[in-house]
Amino acid sequence: VRKMSQSAAGLSWEESVFLDIPSNASARASLEFITRKPHVAGTPGDLHMAQYVRDAFQRAGISAELDPQKVLLTYPISSALQLVDGTGRVVSAAKLAEDVLQTDNTSDTWWRNHTFNAYSPSGDVTAPVVYANFGLPEDFAALKAAGVQVRGAIALMRYGKCFRGLKAMNAQKAGALAAVIYSDPEQDGFAKGSVYPYGPWRPESSVQRGSIQFISLCAGDPTRAYAPHGMDVEELCGYSEKELIPQIPVLPISYGDAAIFLDSLGGPEAPPSFRGALNITYRTGPTETKYKVHLQVANHFQSSPVWNVIGKIPGTLPAELDQPVVLGNHRDAWIFGAADPNSGTAQLLEVAKGLGELLQRGWRPLRSIFLCSWSGEEYGLLGSTAWGEVNGDGQRAVLKRALAYLNVDVGVSGPHFRVAGTPSLAQLLAGVLGHVRHPESQKPLSEQWSGKLYSLGSGSDYTVFIDHLGIPSLDMSFTPGNAQYGVYHSVYDSFTWMATEGDPNFTYHVAMSQVWGLTTLRLAGSTKSGNLPLPLNLTIQAQAIQGYIAEAQESLNGTAQRKLWFEPLEQASEAFLRAAQHASAEADRLRRLGPSAFHEVVAFNNRIGLLERSFLMESGLPGRKWFRHCLQAPGLYTGYGAKTFPGINEAISAEEWDLAQSQIKACAQRIEAAAASITEPN
Ligand code: GLU
Ligand code: ZN
Ligand code: ZN
Repeated sequence: VRKMSQSAAGLSWEESVFLDIPSNASARASLEFITRKPHVAGTPGDLHMAQYVRDAFQRAGISAELDPQKVLLTYPISSALQLVDGTGRVVSAAKLAEDVLQTDNTSDTWWRNHTFNAYSPSGDVTAPVVYANFGLPEDFAALKAAGVQVRGAIALMRYGKCFRGLKAMNAQKAGALAAVIYSDPEQDGFAKGSVYPYGPWRPESSVQRGSIQFISLCAGDPTRAYAPHGMDVEELCGYSEKELIPQIPVLPISYGDAAIFLDSLGGPEAPPSFRGALNITYRTGPTETKYKVHLQVANHFQSSPVWNVIGKIPGTLPAELDQPVVLGNHRDAWIFGAADPNSGTAQLLEVAKGLGELLQRGWRPLRSIFLCSWSGEEYGLLGSTAWGEVNGDGQRAVLKRALAYLNVDVGVSGPHFRVAGTPSLAQLLAGVLGHVRHPESQKPLSEQWSGKLYSLGSGSDYTVFIDHLGIPSLDMSFTPGNAQYGVYHSVYDSFTWMATEGDPNFTYHVAMSQVWGLTTLRLAGSTKSGNLPLPLNLTIQAQAIQGYIAEAQESLNGTAQRKLWFEPLEQASEAFLRAAQHASAEADRLRRLGPSAFHEVVAFNNRIGLLERSFLMESGLPGRKWFRHCLQAPGLYTGYGAKTFPGINEAISAEEWDLAQSQIKACAQRIEAAAASITEPN
């Protein structure tokens, strides 16, 4: 017997039915199954879990199939990191293994002592170490200013602040022979609280694995091996395979291991911003002259398939009017992936169950719904990018008219609801959050949510959809707040961690399933309510754009008094605001007219549903043409974090004034085109 939804006010029939379906017991059971064995992309475990998800979709009454994509992957063979003295004797060696925990039986796996960074080439280097903090350009600049030689050395850097692949990129640019990246306890270890299994944070032997592709240059498989007749990666991205991944060996280590090498550094005491939470004196290096460091990495590169799963609920609108809604979560993991990403997978399966139940009770969506379970995300968004590129272009491509992409990667790793996304979706989301309770406070999530949509950077599967294809996107999660959760990309991201630390009652799993599903229902519409104006708010989008302009102008203060003319951008954004206000009045009028306005609604929805495409620049961003959206992109040096007006702001940072001015013009043109597409039939 199902209980009545507690918040029926303002909900349609199918919405109240849906909200009662996600259950903590069922989410827990799916998570327990998926995290039973390692399912790293391209391994037998990956295929096994793909079949499990496909079967679960089908059991829910949703047609689903495997979508294999051929990509380049790497797997670990062996590694070593040793402190050696002048005679070549090994004084101390890194363990390079995560300890077995008696309280968490899955920790005893082959993968625990094969820690590696995906796409690191093999190599063997003996050199002194220098400590380059977070590996940001300013960190290397600080070393240079202090006269510390990175060229010819092994760059030791800590995780945090930017995507790890960019640390490797910066180290390589600075002439390092190899890079080592460690998890300082300041970021996600004992400085944050008790470490696993006594609390959720990173224990001493734990290693953060992860891809080191150069994520801000291009996403996806560096070979484009899946393309039907072989796509030229250079033509698509502007970079060759070799320019998209490091050419120096890179190794991730724990803070237990890092202490050995930090402790043997000579050189001056490091500046305060370099100091972490280890009980040592942080120095810049190089390694004391009586020692050297020997690093050896062997990884195996292999071209092989990864398995996406694509489920589809067909909409009832004629194909030429369809505007599909796409839900996505990756399924491949660094080992067990209970939080990253399979908390999201368990939620996706709850959403599938809910939609399946509605189908059985006679509900039909107007617009098609795709449920996607990606693989190869951990290596560099491989599965989603492949599917996006293959289905993005061409008149009949399923994504040509896609309305929105809704991503959940790490569904739950803490209690704070966080969302990044396209501003036009903010109002829809706020409405949805009003109907879902926070698991602890029991208050509507809308009360906890700041109302702030962060801009989309990268590091998860929304990237191809928003940045390459111009499809409005959301990326949602429950997080610990201001830190990455403590067992991220380690063997301890396990079912036991989730069931003891992450979400013991699985109530956050339920809440996210409700948010995800309700957002989907409102975007997809139903045959019963008929074709209504789409729930996109372009006025909020216009205001966001005005905010980005103000930020770009502010960032100029303090630079060499250069004059940039922002007028074209200001005028374009005002035109866009006027068009947006006009569109919202139009939507109100159409809503009042009801079913008799069908043809007008079709025309209106075509215009505003495809509007985001207007922000794509045909030739892409300067120096990285695969990223085509003019309003946001991953920061060139952050990777995860977004830059708004990336073409303009990256040019300002580089003090390339002519480029900045021409980017202002190019962005103004895109915004004008967007304004025109709101009002003019297309
Ligand atoms: N989400 C993964 C990570 O942060 C993959 C990101 C990427 O390579 O694009 O490591
Ligand atoms: Zn993930
Ligand atoms: Zn991950």
